[in-house]
Amino acid sequence: MKKVRYSYLPQQFGNPDEILDEIRKFLGKCQFTLGPEVAQFESSFASLIGTKYAVGVGSGTDALKLPLKALGIGHGDEVITAANTFIATAGAINEIGAKPVFVDVTPYYTLDVAKVEAAITPRTKAIMPVHLTGEPADMKPILELAKKHKLHVVEDACQAILAAVDGKNVGTIGAAAGFSLHPLKNLNVWGDAGVVVTNSDEMYAKLKLLRNHGMKNRDEIEVFGYNSRLDSIQAIVGNWIIRQTHQITDARIANGAHYDDAFSKMEKHVRLPYRRKDVRRVFHLYMLQVEAQHRDPLVEFLLKNGVDAKVHYPIPLYLQQGLAHLGYRAGQFPETDRQAKEIFTLPVDQHLTREQQDYCIETVKKYFETHA
Ligand SMILES: *Cc1c(COP(=O)(O)O)cnc(C)c1O
Repeated sequence: MKKVRYSYLPQQFGNPDEILDEIRKFLGKCQFTLGPEVAQFESSFASLIGTKYAVGVGSGTDALKLPLKALGIGHGDEVITAANTFIATAGAINEIGAKPVFVDVTPYYTLDVAKVEAAITPRTKAIMPVHLTGEPADMKPILELAKKHKLHVVEDACQAILAAVDGKNVGTIGAAAGFSLHPLKNLNVWGDAGVVVTNSDEMYAKLKLLRNHGMKNRDEIEVFGYNSRLDSIQAIVGNWIIRQTHQITDARIANGAHYDDAFSKMEKHVRLPYRRKDVRRVFHLYMLQVEAQHRDPLVEFLLKNGVDAKVHYPIPLYLQQGLAHLGYRAGQFPETDRQAKEIFTLPVDQHLTREQQDYCIETVKKYFETHA
């Protein structure tokens, strides 16, 4: 039986000698925090995305939390975000004492702009659209709405490096954006790490303070901050892998197109989300939709036949026990609910071979030949 694994990390980092050489040099200097490796990574990252600044921080979660904090958002404030996101989006909002306010999503997984206005209250301070799966949110109407209601926009770009909308890279559109370099993200390092990008001088200055205890210099504290520096060893890994970002992205886009071709011919059983023309989606996740009754049996069939399929995510955040105090009721976000029951994810990474992809496609086909 063939195996199509989900994690490609053994291939991604199978040849680590160049990285280890750099780490050996780094050890000789013993400048273990915020050295030139971090500065180099930040400068490469800012030019990759096309922003004036990038600030390396401890995780993708912190890359969302710190810009919110820098905007003065905190206790008693509300931040609107997508109901179907990864916990870290809501977690970042919660960590600064604000309340995450969920809004349902479009069939292509991102914030449904038509439903945002109804969620705005006098306490709303910001909108945090999530470019989930590498699919850019509808940024133009989100910005218009934000402007009308005087709200900040901070993008959760953790899954969407080099995704673009109307020719603009995500991360260049809001007041700031957070990216994750977690091992499971498209551009990944050997542990937790994140990056905030911004074009604002003021935001940049605040982020530099906030990630390093609010210290203006060795002796003076300007604000209460955090310990959330990008680890220098992770910056070394980042400096190695960042050169491959375009290759990684192009390979994922090509794999997504190959799946799209095959699955669009299986319309009776499998639904692709609507593919908008004016966006570049970077396929952090390749997600399809099937009838709810088929989802779990199909995923089981795929696993049994060696295809490491996943579901992102089977239980909507607003129904999770840990968020029960937010007071949401089952059924409040019908599209999010539908997706939780109907979506599944296939491997789409840059190391996946065409043969492995075709095996995934064949296995889905085989399920419906025997179960439909
Ligand atoms: C991964 C992820 C995060 C958080 O990143 P970490 O680096 O794991 O803290 C935030 N939002 C989304 C949508 C993510 O996928």
